Amino acid sequence: MDWSWTLIRRECTGCGICADVCPHDAIDMPREEAYPRPVAGQCVGCMICVQQCPFDAVEVSPAIDSEAATTRTPIPA
Ligand code: SF4
Ligand code: SF4
Repeated sequence: MDWSWTLIRRECTGCGICADVCPHDAIDMPREEAYPRPVAGQCVGCMICVQQCPFDAVEVSPAIDSEAATTRTPIPA
């Protein structure tokens, strides 16, 4: 399953805790940037970053499968 990692910027202080605690290297905190960013394909949805962020600035949820979302099941006649 793919996971969507969303930063709520107005809450984020750029402390970097989320990047430090992620066991899957799914969050990058470049020195030259003020905010963390997700690393594509790395998140496993463990929610550790959500739990450890002191400012409730991270949301993790199952990514919407655009193909499945647009596939319609035919209604039997
Ligand atoms: S732990 Fe929270 S406040 Fe700190 S950088 Fe990550 S998202 Fe921002
Ligand atoms: S949910 Fe887990 S794997 Fe995904 S970014 Fe947060 S700590 Fe890393």
